[in-house]
Amino acid sequence: TAELINGKEIAARVRQEVAAGTELRRAQGLRPPGLAVVLVGDDPASHVYVGNKRKACDQAGIVSLSYDLPADTSQEALEALVDELNENPAVDGILVQLPLPKHLDADPILVKIRPDKDVDGFHPYNIGRLMQRKPTLRPCTPAGVITLLDSIGTPYKGQHAVIVGASNIVGRPMTMELLLKGATVTICHRFTDNLEKFVGEADILIAAAGKPGLIKGEWVKPGSTVIDVGINRMEDGKLHGDVDFATAAERAAYITPVPGGVGPMTIATLLQNTLYAANELHAD
Ligand code: NAD
Repeated sequence: TAELINGKEIAARVRQEVAAGTELRRAQGLRPPGLAVVLVGDDPASHVYVGNKRKACDQAGIVSLSYDLPADTSQEALEALVDELNENPAVDGILVQLPLPKHLDADPILVKIRPDKDVDGFHPYNIGRLMQRKPTLRPCTPAGVITLLDSIGTPYKGQHAVIVGASNIVGRPMTMELLLKGATVTICHRFTDNLEKFVGEADILIAAAGKPGLIKGEWVKPGSTVIDVGINRMEDGKLHGDVDFATAAERAAYITPVPGGVGPMTIATLLQNTLYAANELHAD
């Protein structure tokens, strides 16, 4: 049966590395890295996510600047705040928590964030850099998956990576990350016929469709690595991935649990990105 890839443990190690990096800056007399976290409205899940991000910053020696705006904030006011944060030299990263309230349009706001402060890695400039094999700030979830795959010594070259899900924030950048590592990549999505066939050919399987139980354990290639990005809240309140964990674990060599797999890596990578922006993009 498969060996578990312990995302919680690996994320804790990454967070410690970031803390060591901020400590080194302090010892050199440099200011601490700063992350501006913008939250609009009162979506309960967003509050939890933002709270976790702020706490993780504190523990890693990153200053988090909180901007909690009322639900009726206008597009103009939010864009004006982004302009201000773009200019603020104490701010290395700007994170606008999604989803925004319905009356706001996220795209023009995300494009307004200066690419060298775009620690979520969603700006077209940063996606383009990844596409052209010169990544700088990389989308957090796919970059965190690469950290997990590296941790088990994944060889990539000559391997077939199959990604299920083609979103802008997970599936597409994941494709570019794995291609950059030298894997042969197939991307599947809601219009793919015969998903089972592709899954059966995957040495590295990345499930990111947001559909609980979409991937049957019997489809999984024996000896493969299964990374489950899916986070689905079930009626009983429990979290499930996109993969039938128990049956997949009988066939795979390595597998991530949900929760405790990919989830913790996303915040850890956000901290890495913020330190990287401070060290490499905002030398002062
Ligand atoms: P999305 O809804 O934007 O995209 C889903 C993708 O899956 C689409 O490309 C769609 O074509 C594909 N898909 C849907 N049904 C399918 C099917 N039956 N067969 C094949 N492909 C199918 O979702 P997203 O934002 O990319 O998130 C995907 C999942 O990952 C969600 O469960 C989300 O909660 C989770 N997620 C986790 C993290 C994390 O930190 N671990 C971060 C982001 C997203």
